[in-house]
Amino acid sequence: MNILVINCGSSSVKAEVINTLNKKRLLKMTAERVMDNASIRFSDEEYPLSCKENGHRAVLEQAFPLLVKKLNGTIIHGVGHRVVHGGDAFEQAVVINDDVEQIISSLNRLAPLHNPINLKGIRIARDFFKEIPHIAVFDTAFHNTLPKRAKTYALPDELCKKHKIRRYGFHGTSHDYVSQAAADHLQTDIRALRLITCHLGNGCSLAAVEYGRSIETSMGMTPLEGLVMGTRSGDIDAGILTYLAEQENMSADNIDHLLNKESGLKGISGTNDMRDIIAKASNENDDAARLALQVFTHRLRKYIGAYAAVMGGVDAIIFTGGIGENSPVVRHRTCQRLDFLGAIINEDKNSAITLSEDAPIQSFNMNHSRVQLLAIKTDEQYSIARQTADLVAEKNKVNTTPVIPIAVSARHMHITQETLEQLFGAGYQLTERNPLSQPNQFAANETVTIVGPKNKIERVRILGPVRPKNQIEISRTDEFYLGIDAPVRESGKTENSAGCKVIGPKGEINLKEGLICAWRHIHMTPQDAAIFGVADRDIVEVEVTEGSRSLTFGNVLIRVSPKYKLEMHIDTDEGNAAELGRSAQGVLLKTDGKASLTKKKLR
Ligand code: ADP
Repeated sequence: MNILVINCGSSSVKAEVINTLNKKRLLKMTAERVMDNASIRFSDEEYPLSCKENGHRAVLEQAFPLLVKKLNGTIIHGVGHRVVHGGDAFEQAVVINDDVEQIISSLNRLAPLHNPINLKGIRIARDFFKEIPHIAVFDTAFHNTLPKRAKTYALPDELCKKHKIRRYGFHGTSHDYVSQAAADHLQTDIRALRLITCHLGNGCSLAAVEYGRSIETSMGMTPLEGLVMGTRSGDIDAGILTYLAEQENMSADNIDHLLNKESGLKGISGTNDMRDIIAKASNENDDAARLALQVFTHRLRKYIGAYAAVMGGVDAIIFTGGIGENSPVVRHRTCQRLDFLGAIINEDKNSAITLSEDAPIQSFNMNHSRVQLLAIKTDEQYSIARQTADLVAEKNKVNTTPVIPIAVSARHMHITQETLEQLFGAGYQLTERNPLSQPNQFAANETVTIVGPKNKIERVRILGPVRPKNQIEISRTDEFYLGIDAPVRESGKTENSAGCKVIGPKGEINLKEGLICAWRHIHMTPQDAAIFGVADRDIVEVEVTEGSRSLTFGNVLIRVSPKYKLEMHIDTDEGNAAELGRSAQGVLLKTDGKASLTKKKLR
């Protein structure tokens, strides 16, 4: 598909037509100084064209017809718009209609510098490219998988709810793109990798991407939190704000300007350009430049250590963005003495890195380093184009929307033969109590007691047949009761999950891991998947209606196998929240009254 990607900023608009099949750039356009003395430049022309009038609408109304003319009959199948803040309204890319515009506009106060301008671009483009689907791709969306403990600020709950104050995270398209590129490069399924992705450009953020899902990121409610950036402070003691307000008589606007425009590298050294800082730090022995470099890399190292701790280890650390891709100095300072983590830098390889279209990924770890160190050229435009193409394809499909039966799974244990024998005696075999809906699965007569630091839960049923790994699935409420913080995981992903004691009639065992809160999911056959237009590991939304009450479950994982029977599995907490009875059913959510699922792939 040919996708026009539009990134509409306050003073410049960047647009690109990308063929998503071969990643080829068909045309690039940049409009600069949009509000004053505007000019438009195309990739195939040396000199920019001066605009007759200024302002986003006037400039784009000149630029779009030129762009179409230059495409010379090449069809555009969709338009992807970068939108900075999706708030809690958009957890993934979405087909734009008037309602979506309205919601984006309601998020303006969360990103006053970006969202209103992004929306302006959307409105102008929708007026011009009327017949083509427009898709909004949000910088925040990739981080919608952050667990509550990572996205909650320790502020009064009521205030947070009222003002939607929580950590959202940004640079999502870049973190998403480079984490997938790393997995492809390492020829390892992303679901088996714990990655730390460092996007270091003018804005800087890093993310902990655990098994394909962002579970921590350094930017918060706004792009101000976290790392030191070109002109943004990143983390500071919030007490400084009230102190400055009093001491310097600063208004909210003054403080906003100070933290966003006058701080960071610029605040410390007078320049926001890392190239200048590095040159001054080495050539001119400039103390301020040296300090800026030290503070920048110190903060980054601190976060890398923290994110490795959050994930219980790390398999690859990725550097991207203008600084991450191009600065051996920053990579060196950040990665030296990370041996304790298993990350050993190869200085020669690091110094020799030159990324290009032909060589977009290069590694710079020693051969014996357990952790891979990678520099990867990010491609946010392509990432937006790809997400746009996915949604355009969905929109064009006809959806027959069959209903999905829903089963509420009570807490249960899958057990290995070895553990079964430890708990029930040598040679013990499970006995079937009743069959389950999934073929060949059964609830056993046998039950166990699971014990946490706070409480124990008796009569936890074992499901058969025995499996290669022990796994106990409980609800959030059970977790609180037991006093155990178990991660939300799909079945089978028990690495670094929680542990507990399990007691049977003939013995007990201390499981180091295996306790999870099961990720809600839908089992289906390949035939069902074809009907729904989804694939294994897609993430969808499901609307469940019971009586007059309906509830939408987001983040539902699709599992496809010829062995499965169509059924959605949720846990008891979720079943209670939706007040579900025994014959509950759900439908995959539609948008625009057409085929498109709100769908995202867990690659
Ligand atoms: P944006 O976030 O605006 O997309 P970029 O990703 O282009 O920005 O990153 C801009 C930053 O990258 C600037 O601080 C610039 O100095 C830095 N940078 C670019 N090339 C180099 C280099 N060779 N060495 C160090 N820093 C570099």
